[in-house]
Amino acid sequence: VLFDMDGLLVDTEPLWSLAEIELAEHLGGAWTDALKAAIVGTRLEVAVPTILTGLGHLPTPELVAETTGRLLARMVQLFAGELLPRPGAVALHTALRAAGIPVALVSSSYRVLVDAVLHRTGLAFDLTLAGDEVVRAKPDPEPYLAACRVLGAEPARAVVLEDSPAGVASGEAAGCAVVAVPDLAAVRFDPAPRRLVVSSLAQITPAQLRELAARP
Ligand SMILES: [Mg+2]
Repeated sequence: VLFDMDGLLVDTEPLWSLAEIELAEHLGGAWTDALKAAIVGTRLEVAVPTILTGLGHLPTPELVAETTGRLLARMVQLFAGELLPRPGAVALHTALRAAGIPVALVSSSYRVLVDAVLHRTGLAFDLTLAGDEVVRAKPDPEPYLAACRVLGAEPARAVVLEDSPAGVASGEAAGCAVVAVPDLAAVRFDPAPRRLVVSSLAQITPAQLRELAARP
């Protein structure tokens, strides 16, 4: 079973919003919904220059590097103090481990933030893969295919747990069954033969995941 991190395992979005508002203040501007909309779902290589430009700064390589470092350092700090798991995530992880089912964490986020989440939650995974450790990010199937390869798991017998459209697309392109648990209100998923759509991981048991993975 392959867990996504942001918005699926842990509730990171409120902490990103807090850090973004602080960053805008530091840069002498104000955070706006338009800026949020422009960067949602993008990596920091894209998001940081967009934020700088939006706040009236020239995105020089030096300023981009400094701003990225500041944002990541602040997120590590926030994760250590305030990060909460999503409902049902810890109980499902515990039940899967007890059933002897291999579990992986497959994130689009940075290794430094994946490690901060592992430290904060104390959860153990058979494999963790960060976004800066793959060449092609979700929605490309590479992250989930790479995780299955390392685990020795057949993708068709694996289940991906995801909250975002890009993550669901990545899991399905890899040939995995998917449980979609939307985090943001604006995101909706339709059910499909090998896709369960639920409002919370608290509704999911290991037995259901076995049944889903066995579907043709
Ligand atoms: Mg996610």
